[in-house]
Amino acid sequence: MTTATDTTTRPAAEAGPVTVLGLGAMGSAIARTFLDHGHPTTVWNRTAAKAAPLADAGAATAPTATEAVAASPLVVIALLDSAAVEQVLASVDTAITGRTLVNLTSGSPDQARANERWAREHGAAGYLDGKIMGDPPYVGTPNILFPFSGSDTAFAAHETTLRELGTVTYHGEEPGAAAVEFMAQVATSYELLIGYLHTLRLLREEGADLAGFTRRFGDSLTVFPALLTSMAQAVEAGEYGPDLGSLDVQAALMDDLIGHRESVGVEAVRMREVKRLMDRRIADGHGDQGFSSLFELLAAQSAA
Ligand code: NAP
Repeated sequence: MTTATDTTTRPAAEAGPVTVLGLGAMGSAIARTFLDHGHPTTVWNRTAAKAAPLADAGAATAPTATEAVAASPLVVIALLDSAAVEQVLASVDTAITGRTLVNLTSGSPDQARANERWAREHGAAGYLDGKIMGDPPYVGTPNILFPFSGSDTAFAAHETTLRELGTVTYHGEEPGAAAVEFMAQVATSYELLIGYLHTLRLLREEGADLAGFTRRFGDSLTVFPALLTSMAQAVEAGEYGPDLGSLDVQAALMDDLIGHRESVGVEAVRMREVKRLMDRRIADGHGDQGFSSLFELLAAQSAA
């Protein structure tokens, strides 16, 4: 995997032509960044009026997606969803032949794989699937993340241009890998943040200082990278020491945590789920193992 922080503007002479399909908030920010870096930039949008500010900034506008694709060897798509991508690609058809297609539209790993198949079958020079972690105003700064996967030759050929958009990571040739990374990052964040919201509710009910707790909890997050690494190692090896203590001890603590939440009227369904998993693992004879061992129960068929 490659990480990057270099977003230096290159001389205009080195900046090759780029086409951007889709000029919503994200596509417009992407096209503007390419213009800022001196790329001859051709844009197309279903609703043509959205191209006007970019035309004023120096972009060429194309009346159809097909004509926009014909204008550049590198074609970047930022549409609403995979259904929109499918429709626009169907209209472009073989105009993509010889061009590199970079799809930045949100979607699943399977949709990325289907897009890669489509690009290959239509003679594209290469397909890269990218996902976006950050908001449009951050495009063109290191504060927005773009994981990519797909053709390594296409990535090598266009890496410098793609790095102009933000902080880039490359996850290998498997086209769905960037979407897997995106889904995993976002899902983990949601799971963490819903736990945090439960805690804020609990603190509010107890009349505690939310800001002070948040500051201290933020400080304590510094131990997480080492903890996460050791958990991943335990899972990879299938060997579960008593991390965070043995499950026998942790299950008793869970009863206290659930009881506390419920005593102040805070919903505790996810915590009861954790306790249920601990109880099952203990019943299976693994009470001496640690928290990481719950991994063994998380396949859909075994979690029921
Ligand atoms: P947006 O502002 O709603 O723009 C959506 C774009 O898709 C517009 O250009 C729209 O064209 C086009 N579109 C929708 N359906 C279409 C169709 N059937 N055929 C052709 N064009 C169609 O969305 P956005 O914020 O630019 O988001 C673009 C992608 O980036 C999404 O996949 C989003 O999940 C992802 N993303 C966005 C953010 C964010 O904060 N905005 C952050 C991370 C990732 P019209 O103008 O004609 O409607």
